[in-house]
Amino acid sequence: MTGAPPILPGATVGVLGSGQLGRMFAIAARQMGYRVHTFSPDSDTPTGQVADLEVEASYDDLDAVRNFARGVSVVTFEFENVPAATAAAAAECTAVRPNGSVLHITQHRLREKTFLSTHGFPVTPFRPIRSIADVRLAVEELGCPAVLKTASFGYDGKGQNTIQSLAEAEAVLKTAGSFERVYEKFVDFEREVSVVAARGIDGSFAHWGVIDNTHHNHILDLSISPADVAPEVEREAINITRGILETLQVIGVLCVEFFLTKSGTLLVNELAPRPHNSGHLTIDSHVTSQFEEQLRAICGLPLGSTEQLRPAAMANLLGDLWAGGEPNWAAACAIPEVRLHLYGKAEARAGRKMGHLTALAPTPTDAARIVRTARQSLVG
Ligand code: AMP
Repeated sequence: MTGAPPILPGATVGVLGSGQLGRMFAIAARQMGYRVHTFSPDSDTPTGQVADLEVEASYDDLDAVRNFARGVSVVTFEFENVPAATAAAAAECTAVRPNGSVLHITQHRLREKTFLSTHGFPVTPFRPIRSIADVRLAVEELGCPAVLKTASFGYDGKGQNTIQSLAEAEAVLKTAGSFERVYEKFVDFEREVSVVAARGIDGSFAHWGVIDNTHHNHILDLSISPADVAPEVEREAINITRGILETLQVIGVLCVEFFLTKSGTLLVNELAPRPHNSGHLTIDSHVTSQFEEQLRAICGLPLGSTEQLRPAAMANLLGDLWAGGEPNWAAACAIPEVRLHLYGKAEARAGRKMGHLTALAPTPTDAARIVRTARQSLVG
């Protein structure tokens, strides 16, 4: 509980990071009458295009960070690889929500997994890897197949290798450098699901239920809400999520990504201490979106209702779709149940998240079918 008065519309909120998550946060903030400043090393960014002020400076320029923080009532982030020192410098000058320790834990896979297992949350069996000797022991103890992941700066499958033998694991360490890594048992999961949730300053909790996620090349491809899971799996996923937000004392939004095994067990794969790609559909399908909830939480306002208005599915639009020229936007817009979101990125590179489509329908299965058809129509 904090006695700080709420930060009300008309105030300025600051975002560290300037990608699409910051953009959708800024749109929600502007809708509620707030001003938005964004800070990142880039210019003409997805967030900067819709913000009142875009500061272009390095995260290591701590004077620039302090200056930025002095100009806003609260700082949040949309990118968890902001250095801990940056969050600390901002915290000298204004409120930072969620706090820097949430960032510190979740930006490093080993710290994150150690935090989770220490507090009794279920995780994939793992071992820390700092040397060839560690990798030999990990292969002996956990066996193969496995996934070797860099401890820092990994997302969307970056810095990951699937390992079938000790020789392969040793080769990765020799050729890709001796960074700190995590050796994780390969999970032959039935599906991947996530729970996006929010925690307010007063400890209140809200969630958008269980979302079903399909990945392609380690990048999220399709999300469906609600996920078709047994009620006890849903209860368990939400309980675990609530426990994680509570233990971390999050103020803001956090997403828990899970593997659901064939025997119905949930294992936490990863945490994201911010709105998440799988929650983008909440903009169109729920009373309050994950972005508005992030704003409400960090400003100390009551959380909004997360009631679902209609089943929904979201399909990511990656840069690959531009290979044959500009996608046919009119074709997707011709499907009445579909909404188009584009992030204002000038350069369409393969694998780059450029936008997404959301379809609303009477059932989740219908929504998934419609959103797939709509995405296909962009290049058909
Ligand atoms: P991550 O960057 O950890 O979220 O991994 C990206 C994707 O790689 C996940 O969503 C899974 O599809 C796959 N993956 C990661 N770790 C494992 C694992 N231990 N077993 C099986 N698949 C995995």
